Amino acid sequence: SQVAQAEFVKSSVRTEDCPSDGLPEFALVGRSNVGKSSLLNSLVRRKKLALTSKKPGKTQCINHFRINDSWYLVDLPGYGYASAPQELRMDWEKFTKDYFLNRSTLVSVFLLIDASIPAKQIDLEYASWLGQNQIPMTIIFTKCDKRKKKKNGGKRPEENVNDFQELIHGFFETAPPWIMTSSVTNQGRDEILLHMAQLRNY
Ligand code: GDP
Repeated sequence: SQVAQAEFVKSSVRTEDCPSDGLPEFALVGRSNVGKSSLLNSLVRRKKLALTSKKPGKTQCINHFRINDSWYLVDLPGYGYASAPQELRMDWEKFTKDYFLNRSTLVSVFLLIDASIPAKQIDLEYASWLGQNQIPMTIIFTKCDKRKKKKNGGKRPEENVNDFQELIHGFFETAPPWIMTSSVTNQGRDEILLHMAQLRNY
């Protein structure tokens, strides 16, 4: 389940423009600053692969990275920029939701949640939407290495993880699988890759 090869393939604005070779894919999505680029780089063991998706103009795109010539990691734009104009937010919603609902090769959405802070309303909204629409998903808790801080509610990552799971409990018939990770210690990295390998072989 290790990554031997990773290459950026393309940025697409619409679902129809995404690669059409039929390879299975996993989409990473989360609030901006959740640690998505760091996780992507840690998964492929490269410092700068995810930079492509941070270039101005590419942040609102669906970015495909082909792994081992056999599956894709997909970087979706982060949500919840406080400063994003309402119009842009609506746009984001339209095109990512269209992707989730219509991308037939999408195996699972990996929803990234920051475990170093208490749950945010917008994260609960996304989890709820994905649950209601029965989009297969996995929850990836990020920044699990971080110590509790008073200004962040004074809870340990493990406590925030438990709280989050309780809060989303009602959105799903069966609770989605979840993995605790850190891009600093690489905690969870192998677990994610193994989980993706298992999902591909179903
Ligand atoms: P993105 O906006 O979701 O792509 O987030 P980035 O990957 O750019 O990370 C946002 C900030 O969080 C940066 O300052 C990172 O150094 C930090 N960060 C990301 N992942 C981790 C992690 O696992 N642990 C810690 N302690 N910090 C992290």
